[in-house]
Amino acid sequence: MVFEQSYAVARAAFRSEAKQIGAEVDSIIIDADGQRAEDGSELTIDFASWGEGDRCVVMSSGLHGVEGYIGSATQRLLMASKPAKGCRYLLIHAINPWGMVQFRRVNESNVDLNRNFLSAEEDYAGSPEHYGRLNGLLNPMRRFSRVEFLARSAWQILRHGYEPLKQAIAGGQYDYPQGLFWGGNRLEEGPAKLLEVLPGYLKGVKDILWLDLHSGLGAHGELTYLLEASTDSALYERLSAQFGKKVQAWNQEGGVAYAIRGGFPAALEQVFGDRLAMLTCEYGTRPAVDILRLLVLENQVVHHGGHREGAKSAMRQAFYPKDSAWRNKARRSAEELIQALATY
Ligand SMILES: [Zn+2]
Repeated sequence: MVFEQSYAVARAAFRSEAKQIGAEVDSIIIDADGQRAEDGSELTIDFASWGEGDRCVVMSSGLHGVEGYIGSATQRLLMASKPAKGCRYLLIHAINPWGMVQFRRVNESNVDLNRNFLSAEEDYAGSPEHYGRLNGLLNPMRRFSRVEFLARSAWQILRHGYEPLKQAIAGGQYDYPQGLFWGGNRLEEGPAKLLEVLPGYLKGVKDILWLDLHSGLGAHGELTYLLEASTDSALYERLSAQFGKKVQAWNQEGGVAYAIRGGFPAALEQVFGDRLAMLTCEYGTRPAVDILRLLVLENQVVHHGGHREGAKSAMRQAFYPKDSAWRNKARRSAEELIQALATY
């Protein structure tokens, strides 16, 4: 497994390895207000597809920019592995390329793309019940210490309870454009272009197993498979049989996830219906409260000034740790994932 350090290098490797295995390679250009990759090239979402059959494994990376590094490495590991027979593959590289270049979770408009896919009937407005009250904690105008952050979060947890708080913070909001977990005010460029081409790629496919790769939630170096269905659904049973105990329903008591508005899985379900079985795959890195504090600080630096390079390297370390202990665990987790796919 190769751990690249820049988007442009990761993309070039993805494309060239895809060509080596005979995959069809394609890309969509993302304008991102004229911004570019590290090497000055255009930002793209890249596709690699190969194989025959009416079932398809789809693996996507980088919906959350910086989280795309480990996703890209996993996609390349899949290309290097022995594919399952009678099955098609579609890999989608860097859905938010700008975020990957900038080591941000959000895109060029500060939008969390996993909160951006609202259905046609929904308005880009509103926030979870407690978000407004937490605005000062989540989106402060000034820098504050770890102790102060922990004290203030602990107070909020005592007042509202951990589960409602998690929901209020991360469920997605549409009222604070500079705030965390902002879902935007329209469907963003990347998501819009992606939704346009997807049906073409999956024409004639009867069964889609979709793995959307992320990092930053769950136990250090381990993969958790999050499913947007309840624990008593047939889908939960089917995917647990394939991927084991690591599958968690979004609603699971004590689980790491939370329900979101405007999520990618819900948007894909709208398009593909019953043909789709989708798992959001999360490589764990650090405890949730550390990740949250870092996101608060980084967002504050971007909007209110501060040491941008320092914030970037903190993001890299939080979502794509450099240390060999994490990388070894992540590699093993990726290998297990790919092994589970061989039985599809
Ligand atoms: Zn993510």
